[in-house]
Amino acid sequence: MSDRVKAIIVGAGPAGLTAAYELAKAGQRVVVLESDPEYVGGISRTVNYRGYRFDIGGHRFFSKSQEVEELWTEILGADMLRRPRSSKIYYGGQFYSYPLKPFEALSKLGFFESAHCLLSFLVARLNPTRNPRTFEEWTVNQFGERLFQIFFKTYTEKVWGMSCSEISADWAAQRIKGLSLGSAIKHALLPKRKPKDRTKVVKTLIDTFRYPRRGPGMMWETCAGKVRKLGGEVILGRKVVGCRFDSASNLWTVTARGSDGSTEQYCGEHLISSMPIRELIAQIEPRLPEPALQAARSLRYRDFLTVGLIVKDRDRFSDNWIYIHDPNVQVGRVQNYKSWSPEMVPDPAFCSYGLEYFCFEGDGLWTTPDHDLIELAKGEIQQVNLAHSADVVDGCVIRQAKAYPVYDDAYQQHVATVRQAIDERFPTLHLVGRNGMHKYNNQDHAMMTAMLTAKNILAGQRRFDVWAVNQDAEYHEAGAAGAERAAGFTPAGVSPAAHGAVPAERVRGTLSPPPWTVGQAARQEEQTAEGASR
Ligand SMILES: Cc1cc2nc3c(=O)[nH]c(=O)nc-3n(C[C@H](O)[C@H](O)[C@H](O)COP(=O)(O)OP(=O)(O)OC[C@H]3O[C@@H](n4cnc5c(N)ncnc54)[C@H](O)[C@@H]3O)c2cc1C
Repeated sequence: MSDRVKAIIVGAGPAGLTAAYELAKAGQRVVVLESDPEYVGGISRTVNYRGYRFDIGGHRFFSKSQEVEELWTEILGADMLRRPRSSKIYYGGQFYSYPLKPFEALSKLGFFESAHCLLSFLVARLNPTRNPRTFEEWTVNQFGERLFQIFFKTYTEKVWGMSCSEISADWAAQRIKGLSLGSAIKHALLPKRKPKDRTKVVKTLIDTFRYPRRGPGMMWETCAGKVRKLGGEVILGRKVVGCRFDSASNLWTVTARGSDGSTEQYCGEHLISSMPIRELIAQIEPRLPEPALQAARSLRYRDFLTVGLIVKDRDRFSDNWIYIHDPNVQVGRVQNYKSWSPEMVPDPAFCSYGLEYFCFEGDGLWTTPDHDLIELAKGEIQQVNLAHSADVVDGCVIRQAKAYPVYDDAYQQHVATVRQAIDERFPTLHLVGRNGMHKYNNQDHAMMTAMLTAKNILAGQRRFDVWAVNQDAEYHEAGAAGAERAAGFTPAGVSPAAHGAVPAERVRGTLSPPPWTVGQAARQEEQTAEGASR
């Protein structure tokens, strides 16, 4: 058993490492346990294959939160590049700029197709579906039936593996909010002015972003180095398999299994978990009541794999990524990592493409042998006119389980059940991050939940409600109801009603969000049309 630490942190992704860094800077002892034997960074890692670097989906660094932006600068300084954004949609054998440029799109679609699009847009405007319930209804309301068919349906169905008529409208409102045919036309016509207020930026439309010169993994490797320098431990190849709370000592004992099967135990005052809720809840002792166990078991995930191809550079395209809206190929999106940063390739005569396939762990695609997946990708990259398969000189496959927490009809209820059970029993257990909170969000959100958790631990009370962090990483002080909940740090017994706490005070220095309740915030999160992909 290790010496007792202030916090045991499960997962060395953005959330886990941010929590570790903030606590270590404040002089606290931390240990981070990461199951991956090689990489830190979680879904934001960068995989190195023979010097070619691949993200798990290209990772833009953009946040509406100044605090997060500043933390990225603090960690990487001049290694953070500002990169131009260029993305396209491949449809019907043609490439369309994305975000859509309406006049380019209409001219490429041709007169009849364009007229069809405009007509169906007008029909949707004049006769919208009242209270749209599905992704399809919501998007048709915004863009019209025909544009929905062309630019949203195929890709979204590839991502989720289900029909757009089964996907909730809530999700569309989250992911595409801020973008409509109207806003796209306005953006195309009006001179570009940079909004002074970062909160006013529509993420879909940003034309530059920051990016570490060697990919997102560089951020998290550097952060892990800083944690270690401050005396914290970041231990790779340790899968957490047991979390036991002792109410007599108020301490957590965490069991981690190494790759050789041996186990180690760690002891700490707080447990910060970024592992998927489904896995955490199954291993907590004393066991949670059956409804909470059942709720956690009901949470679902979508998985993802990238086929990395190393290709002779024939100057075929310089975009960062291209969405493939073509039902004849399985690939959903193609990344061109040399465009993200020239340092992503060791030899400028080659480029590295990431062909992204969405799947479920264990399904046909997931279990296809690497060699066959590389052959599939070679064929498909040629089919969509982005490279000649004879120019592909090598390839690799990177699988990412639980890339997306699924937002189905019941997930909010399941998460609420789990939260209530935890809050009532374990005030020193903190859920952070994407799968850690089952929140389908970017790094900045994951980091903010970790930053606030560190602040709560340092304050010795739950000053901030991490569940109230919205998708833009904006948050509120817990306020009166939160203060009540702060009591949760010592005795148990928190009213579930407190979860809906109306924030009393906004935190200075953050970008002023409207005073939403937690539920409203979740619904009003600004999203991106390519949100489907992140
Ligand atoms: C395709 C795609 C594209 C994306 N693009 C962007 C983007 O452009 N910009 C952006 O900001 N974000 C992007 N994201 C989102 C971003 O990747 C996540 O928000 C972020 O990585 C979440 O951080 P996290 O620490 O919460 O979780 P994770 O990154 O999932 O890290 C969790 C860590 O915990 C470890 N772990 C899990 N279980 C255990 C266990 N039992 N024991 C020990 N360790 C464990 C995992 O191995 C992992 O390292 C994208 C995501 C995807 C899937």
